[in-house]
Formats: sequence, C-alpha cells, structure tokens
Amino acid sequence: MRYTGNCRHILLMTNNFSQIDVTVVGGGLAGMAAAFHLAKGGLRVLCIEPESENRDAVGESLDWSAPELLADLGLPMDHLLSEGMATYKKHVILRLRSGATENYVPSDWLARPPFNVELRTLHVDRERLDAALREIVCAAGVTWLRDKVIRVERMEKTITSVVTQGGIEISSRWFVDAAGSGTSLFPRLFDLPVYEFGPKKVAMWDYFPAPEPLEGTTVNADCEGPFYMSWVWQIPINPETISVGYIAAGETVGEKRKQGMSLHEIFREQMGNFAELGRLAQSSNVNPPHTTSFRCRAYGKTNGPNWLVIGESAAMVDPMTSNGVTAALRHAEEASRIILRNRSRRILPWLPRSLYSRRVLYIAKFFNSGIEKVVYDWPIRNRIGPLRAGDVYTIPAWSINNIYSRIRPRGIISTFLFGMFLATLRFAINLCYWYCSRMRPSAPACATS
Ligand SMILES: Cc1cc2nc3c(=O)[nH]c(=O)nc-3n(C[C@H](O)[C@H](O)[C@H](O)COP(=O)(O)OP(=O)(O)OC[C@H]3O[C@@H](n4cnc5c(N)ncnc54)[C@H](O)[C@@H]3O)c2cc1C
Repeated sequence: MRYTGNCRHILLMTNNFSQIDVTVVGGGLAGMAAAFHLAKGGLRVLCIEPESENRDAVGESLDWSAPELLADLGLPMDHLLSEGMATYKKHVILRLRSGATENYVPSDWLARPPFNVELRTLHVDRERLDAALREIVCAAGVTWLRDKVIRVERMEKTITSVVTQGGIEISSRWFVDAAGSGTSLFPRLFDLPVYEFGPKKVAMWDYFPAPEPLEGTTVNADCEGPFYMSWVWQIPINPETISVGYIAAGETVGEKRKQGMSLHEIFREQMGNFAELGRLAQSSNVNPPHTTSFRCRAYGKTNGPNWLVIGESAAMVDPMTSNGVTAALRHAEEASRIILRNRSRRILPWLPRSLYSRRVLYIAKFFNSGIEKVVYDWPIRNRIGPLRAGDVYTIPAWSINNIYSRIRPRGIISTFLFGMFLATLRFAINLCYWYCSRMRPSAPACATS
C-alpha cells in the first residue's frame, strides 16, 4: 500500500492483522480522532479508509466547543491559526435577501468569572486540518489501511470481522464505525431504529479568494415568506480563501434540474441572490461545485457488545447547526473512553455504551428538530421574523454545547438530567411550532429590520 506520511505501511499482500485490538472503519474526522485516542490509550489500532485524502471534506465553521476538542488531539487554536489552517470565528451574521442583517455575538460578560467562556472559535480549512491530523494519528502509532470495508461478519449482536474490497478479513476485539452518513455501516447491518428530520437536502460548495479578512460566518438566507428555507454559507477557511456553499431541499434543486439548469448554474444563481456573493459568482471559476446530498437523522442505538458507532455514521446533524465537527470529536472521545476502560473485558458493559447512545441521540434530536422547526420550516420563522428566529435557535443551541462541555455528562444521573433538559426545550419548540402553524401565514415580518 502507498501512503504519503509517517504511517505504518501495510502491504496489501500481508494478511497479518492478528495483532489488532480495535478496527476503526473510516478515516474522516471522527475516525481519526477515535484512532488517536485509542492508540494514545495503548491499544493497537487499525484505521481503514479508502481515500488517500478527503477532497470533499466540509465542516468548516466550528461550534464554540470544538477548539477544545481539537486541542485534545494536539491541534490547539494558536497552532491552527499560525499555520494558516484556520481563521477566527467571533460571530455569526444572518443576512437576508432583502439586505436585513443580524449579528449574533456572544456577550462579553460570558468571558468573565464564574463563566469563563471562550468567546472565540474557528473556521477551519478542512483539507489542511485533515492532513495535519492524519500526521498526528500516524505518529501516535495507528496503522492505516487504504481499503474499503464491503462486508461485516457477525455472530448475533457481536461483530467478528470486517472484509475489505481488497479481500482482507480483519478480526479484532473491538470495532468502531466512523464511515460517515452515506455508509452508516453497522446501523444498516443491524437495522437499527432511525429518526429522520426534515427533507433530503442537497449541498453544493466551492472556494474563492477571500475579498477581505473576515472573522465570522455569514449565513445568507432565502427565508422571507412561508416556504422552506434555503441558504448560502460564506466561511473564511484560511486567510486567503472563503468557502461558499448552497443548501436547499432536494426537491427544490430537482425542480431546477428539470428546467435544464446545470449544478454550476444553480449554484451561481443562488450566489447572485446576495449582493456580495454575486460579484464572486461572476469570477472565472468554471469548475462545477462540489456536491453532496444528505438527510439529517440520528440512530436510536449506536452500540453493541463489541462495537460503537461515531460521527455522522451515528447521527447526521444539519450543517447550519455547526455542530457536526463537535459531535464527531465528542463521539470519538466518549466511545474511545468506553473501550479503553473496558479493554480487558470480553464485551463492553451495557450501561456506559447505552448511556453513550442516549447522549448521541439527545443532542442530534435537539439540534436537528430545533433548526428544522425554528429556522428551516416557515411557521415559527414567519410569525416572529427570521432574525428573531435566529436568536430563538442560536441562544439555546450555543448554551447547550457550552453546558455539555462543562458538565461532560457520563453517568446515569447527568445523562438523564441533560436528556430531560433537552426534551423540555424540544417540547417547548414543538408547542410553539404547533401554535404558529395553526395561524395564517403573515407577511414577511423582518423585511424592514
Ligand atoms: C455540506 C456539509 C457542510 C457541513 N458544514 C459543517 C460546518 O460548517 N461545521 C461543522 O461542524 N460540521 C459541518 N458538517 C459536518 C462535518 O463535515 C462532519 O460532521 C465531520 O466532518 C465528521 O464527519 P465523519 O468523520 O463522521 O464522516 P466523514 O467525514 O464522512 O468520514 C467518513 C469516512 O469514512 C470513509 N468510508 C466510507 N465508507 C467506508 C467503508 N465502507 N470502509 C472504509 N471507510 C469508509 C469515507 O471515505 C470517509 O473518509 C457539514 C457537513 C456537510 C455534509
């Protein structure tokens, strides 16, 4: 096998995997983070990833809890900034087609005792970040296999081995599924219960020279009226480059395709809806945008006797929440801890792995149903106005991630109380949604803000 890095090389002809403790399927952010924690904990880890680099990696606007999780992987904020892998994210701007804007900035008092909250987070250049993390993971002693898992062997609920496209069968005591939302290998194999949120969506994005230094994420939203929202992100991923991406319901994009528009034309048209991006849309970039489709969802169970599911394979949260990277890194840390603590057992104890699954589900449900009901769908947004809807979603979402980072729920009581808190918030949102959807759509409430 060829791999450009310090990773231990595996010859595809060598079928000697008897020394592996944990097999991690997928070498995206979640898989790399888990592989790192497990190897640091002293286990022999094999990470199976078909791609030499993830060219279509997205996930650039980080939540405020992510920098701490990246620092745990050996990538502190200062390093990411000084190496040109990141820019500061100090606020989020919501800009409507009418030109109305709102700036969401965490208040200064949060930075003072007793709260001591870090008010800055980051935008990251995922290509550079992933490359740096791959080096760190390899240096930690993880063995990397460039291959794709095509079959999983099981004995009842226990996974016995995975089989790769290259014909290699790998057995280990523990398995971690980090294969992303498109694959969700173990949840599909075990036909696990799934919760879905909102319609299927399409994302397309591209990179442009940064017109000026920015320290915030801009969400350009098409949401003034009683219809399902679409939006265009604008994220400075490094000092020279901005990422611009469009997200809409699959049906909306499908309609435009039926009218004969190419992806490139659809993307440029959406950029043109917002003055600042319109100028970029006219630039000479002729490549079709990167494209993916996804459905926000969360699996009701993400564990078995000797396996755990992490990252987007366990739960896909909407990109607008900026919670994907945080969730992936948290899952990786929590799942690795469960394996490390029980390394000498035959199976993982039921309680910690079930509590892990609960936390994954609670958080994904909260973020996905919150963003769908308050922001994407029209009843609440149309009633209180998109700018206020942004507040209604952003304040609890931001706080929840901060609280989670502080209390780090692990045991029965903390997990249960945290779950109850989120369920209460969801209930309040659902009630508000129900109430607003019974009223007649109002005229756009924010057009003059
Ligand atoms: C359009 C879009 C925008 C986003 N924006 C943000 C954002 O601004 N902020 C944020 O925090 N998050 C964002 N996210 C989410 C974020 O990108 C992910 O949560 C994060 O990258 C973690 O992904 P992952 O490692 O779980 O999965 P992935 O990155 O999908 O990695 C899965 C890996 O598994 C490999 N794989 C798949 N199948 C197999 C197999 N059979 N065998 C072996 N390997 C396999 C794949 O090659 C891949 O490398 C966004 C997501 C999307 C789709």
